[in-house]
Amino acid sequence: MDGFTDRLQQLESDIIRDFDYLNYPAENWVKAAKGPTGEPVLDVAIIGGGMCGMAAAVGLRREGVLNFRIFERQDKGFEGPWVTTARMETLRSPKHLTGPHMGLPNLTFQAWYQAKWGWESWQALGNIPREMWMEYLRWYRKILDIPTENNVELLGIEPAGDLLKLYFRQGNTEFQQLTRRIVLATGRAAFGGTRLPAAFAGLPKSVRAHTEDDIDFTALKGKKVIVIGGAASAVDSAATALEAGADEVNLLLRAAEMPRLNKFKSTVYSGFLQGFFSADDETRWRFLQHGFGCKVAAPRGSMLRLKALKKAHIHFGSPAQEATVQDNKVVVTTPKGSLSADFLILGTGYAINIGDQPEFSSFADKVKLWQDQYSPPEEIADPELGRFPYLGGNFELLEKKPGEAPYLSRIHLFNAATTMSHAALSSDIPGVNVGANRLTAALVRSFFVEDSQKHLEDFYAYNDPELLGDEWTNED
Ligand SMILES: Cc1cc2nc3c(=O)[nH]c(=O)nc-3n(C[C@H](O)[C@H](O)[C@H](O)COP(=O)(O)OP(=O)(O)OC[C@H]3O[C@@H](n4cnc5c(N)ncnc54)[C@H](O)[C@@H]3O)c2cc1C
Repeated sequence: MDGFTDRLQQLESDIIRDFDYLNYPAENWVKAAKGPTGEPVLDVAIIGGGMCGMAAAVGLRREGVLNFRIFERQDKGFEGPWVTTARMETLRSPKHLTGPHMGLPNLTFQAWYQAKWGWESWQALGNIPREMWMEYLRWYRKILDIPTENNVELLGIEPAGDLLKLYFRQGNTEFQQLTRRIVLATGRAAFGGTRLPAAFAGLPKSVRAHTEDDIDFTALKGKKVIVIGGAASAVDSAATALEAGADEVNLLLRAAEMPRLNKFKSTVYSGFLQGFFSADDETRWRFLQHGFGCKVAAPRGSMLRLKALKKAHIHFGSPAQEATVQDNKVVVTTPKGSLSADFLILGTGYAINIGDQPEFSSFADKVKLWQDQYSPPEEIADPELGRFPYLGGNFELLEKKPGEAPYLSRIHLFNAATTMSHAALSSDIPGVNVGANRLTAALVRSFFVEDSQKHLEDFYAYNDPELLGDEWTNED
């Protein structure tokens, strides 16, 4: 065994010792619930076994909420975007950001990295290679023994009295599960899928893909490619296409020049992460409207990677007006003229549209959105921001009309759609710890309040004497 293996084993036994000191997992205290015909009921169903779903699970265990299951549609070890649809070489986040540590220094990326490769290597490390981040998440899942059930997809959610009925698919079979609450830790495309601008809607799928799709880049060898957009995923997809042997890539951007800032980088401080939810609606709206409005620059490393490949051409001020297929080529028309290619990749980001998210179909019209709550002054109007869910402090969906759909309070979003209400507490690495703590505290409170009469009865009935009666002598 080499020194590094010893160190990793030492770290793992330190973590187990830390858990022991913290009595982790705490004993379950939540009252067991049963379905109408006695069927088992979960306290929490977590959907998504990525970073956010795992952090939520750790928080629940720490607080003694043990009757939960995690359902994940991807294969084991392939949760989240990192080794599937992500195409950057390294993460954008600085390496020292702490991520889902849940209060334990030994669970940080830094602790894991240094155990595996040592302090000097840590000093020399630039940004975190994305495959390495996935390896860290796999280790996190293993050392925390997070019971993820892979290859299970949530299809739908329906109210069932005081419970929710969830519909799942696993391979060729479908099954249902009752739960008291659901946590949707479902990632970025979780509130309406990907954004497909109207100009491209008529293109057959054989000639177009979204960066969120599984793209066969080897098939682009020797081909011309058009990439729409200039954000990180567009730039990294362009670079991946050229590295796979594409002949030429043209990037079409609406913007007149390359966005150079990532405004949200300046929001990684405790006040913002902890306090954003409590700010008034207009302030929250202004932060997000300004941040999204400035666009988020692609990382410098991604741009340099693309530049080095030499065969990429960036066209500014070139919004696509029309896209058609002519003689097996995709032809995109912009105000500056037309360009043709063999294949088109949309780096157009994610949609926000509850009507397009299948699991919400039975109640989408009852969910309160920002547009139902707040009307911005004209100079900061933005219909897309208005379509974000207007969430409560527990990350729960709220009713558009009070009393119409009380079951919505049992549905907790812990994905990117929470950003307008809570900031990036369930969508980026720096906020996940604050988010998971807030979410689990909320769930714990809800379970206690909901069952408080039963807990009171237990309290009245409690009869476990501290003293046995033989500790003193009666003088009379
Ligand atoms: C390309 C890319 C690069 C990024 N780089 C950075 C970065 O450098 N720094 C940073 O801070 N953040 C970054 N992010 C943002 C963020 O950290 C990631 O999106 C991260 O994966 C978020 O974790 P998550 O658990 O919320 O979502 P995910 O990791 O996406 O996990 C969600 C999981 O839910 C599962 N799921 C979804 N729907 C269902 C369903 N119906 N049934 C069952 N399972 C379902 C998915 O399969 C997925 O595994 C990046 C995001 C992307 C897309």
